[in-house]
Amino acid sequence: MSAVLVVNSGSSSFKYQLIDAESEVTLASGLVERIGEPTGGATHTDAAGERTSLELEIVDHTAGFAVMLEAFAASGVDVVADLVAVGHRVVQGGARFFEPTIITDLVRINIDELSGLAPLHNPANLAGIIAAQKAFPDVSHVAVFDTAFHQTMPPASYTYAIDAALAEKYRVRRYGFHGTSHRFVAHAAAEFVGRPVEDLRQIVLHLGNGASMCAVDGGRSIDTSMGMTPLEGLVMGTRSGDIDPAVLLYLQRRAGLSADEVDTLLNKRSGLLGLSGRGDMRDVQTAADAGDEAAKLALDVYVHRARSYIGAYLVELRGVDVISFTAGVGENSPLLRSRILAGLESFGIEIDPVLNTSPDRGARVISTENSRVTVLVVPTNEELEIARQTLAVVGG
Ligand code: AMP
Repeated sequence: MSAVLVVNSGSSSFKYQLIDAESEVTLASGLVERIGEPTGGATHTDAAGERTSLELEIVDHTAGFAVMLEAFAASGVDVVADLVAVGHRVVQGGARFFEPTIITDLVRINIDELSGLAPLHNPANLAGIIAAQKAFPDVSHVAVFDTAFHQTMPPASYTYAIDAALAEKYRVRRYGFHGTSHRFVAHAAAEFVGRPVEDLRQIVLHLGNGASMCAVDGGRSIDTSMGMTPLEGLVMGTRSGDIDPAVLLYLQRRAGLSADEVDTLLNKRSGLLGLSGRGDMRDVQTAADAGDEAAKLALDVYVHRARSYIGAYLVELRGVDVISFTAGVGENSPLLRSRILAGLESFGIEIDPVLNTSPDRGARVISTENSRVTVLVVPTNEELEIARQTLAVVGG
């Protein structure tokens, strides 16, 4: 048997999943959290779904990987014996990384160097890489970048209309994120409709706590709603998405907010939370159903923004063949799916209300038979996509 370990590392936690290279079945998964705090935690779930948890101090990521190895050993799995590679999620690959890449010393330096563009993410991803390389020194480690899929965007999509020399010096441009998910869903959708991905014009809506949309032409990203950072674009749980940049300056000058306060405002206190006091879409929908005006407005703004991007991408792609919804909201909210695509029959887009509310969980069609555009719900699986890309690089 051979397996790939997928690691998604944050600054004080990491998630992992062991995936069988052939069957693509998840053999184990877990979470190590509160690293560096007096009481850390670890949860491990084995292939049978048996879950074990423990609390103990975990001083750093290296100690976290030791805890993970013990959990594997306790469940009777010799993870080292079966492992062919470790795949790491890395948020920001800049313009340098456009495909999954085997992690050498130079690649680590580059990931570190890109921290300026992603100060919250890349250092945390790197901490996981360094610790995992110590825990598994004999296998290849591969970085899979959230930005890589969008490196096919043309300059017209990724360029901000600001001073060109300044933008180049500070690498200010649109990179896009959620690329691993957009790629997975675009390929899964093509497979589902039984057509080569090269022949399809697709729009993918990744609507989770973070949210982004992607225009995929023949399997290549040609535009996406997130920008230099994951703040641009759609309305999210706590992020504003698009906003007139002059508002930030106005708030700094008139409300006396510092740059850090504006940062917190836009990333942590805006979006659904800022509008309605609730960052979780389920709570917003429940409140709106009960007549809460702020929650209703939050939904209206959310839907309006998403529809604007649908319109933009319809035109950019010169028509669309498949539209797919994915992630927490996209997979689970018939209401938002139907509102986002309401009244687009003249564009060949028609949702079937019965299919849209079906309790099925897998990839499924929600458009009518007459709909020229096929509308799908496609559960995303970023871990599996990272495992696949990792195996493709190491030749597994
Ligand atoms: P994710 O980041 O992909 O885990 O998505 C999280 C978001 O999905 C949260 O805003 C949840 O409220 C939302 N979500 C999960 N289930 C549902 C549901 N049944 N209806 C509406 N939103 C949901």
